[in-house]
Amino acid sequence: MRTTRQRGAILHTLEHADRPLSAAEVLTLARARVPGLGLATVYRTIESLIDTGALMPVEIPGKAPRYEVAGKDHHHHFLCKRCHRVFEVHGCPGNIDAHVPRGFVLEGHELTLFGRCAACSAPPKRPAAASAKPTTPAAHKSRAKNRSNDTRTVASSRRRSRTSERGT
Ligand SMILES: [Zn+2]
Ligand SMILES: [Zn+2]
Repeated sequence: MRTTRQRGAILHTLEHADRPLSAAEVLTLARARVPGLGLATVYRTIESLIDTGALMPVEIPGKAPRYEVAGKDHHHHFLCKRCHRVFEVHGCPGNIDAHVPRGFVLEGHELTLFGRCAACSAPPKRPAAASAKPTTPAAHKSRAKNRSNDTRTVASSRRRSRTSERGT
């Protein structure tokens, strides 16, 4: 009976989380429902929920595994290097096959983005810091990078206008 309640609380915690959780995070959240819950029980229950196919481990290189509910659509993860929380990233760059060496058989892929989450990258709260300045240097840089593209666009639009002139 006690086991069922613990198991239910742990599964509930993971089902209602908006991101993959480590066992320690599960413990903190599930303790609100089951006081006296211990980390060993959390680990044991998670293992058993993986065996039954209810949960999936999320492997993050160099980090304790996180866990999420199984059966989600294909997605990836973002590790915040500051708060060490792992978030779900929707979508996939795709076209992974193109990177597979000749003769290799691709069976799947995992992708971990990392950096700082929104909370950790937000500037410290100050009254005047709210308005974002236009990013002029970045705009310059991207223009320079796209110069060859621009040339091509100009050329093709010139061709197009010539065609339309002939048309009229
Ligand atoms: Zn963070
Ligand atoms: Zn993918």
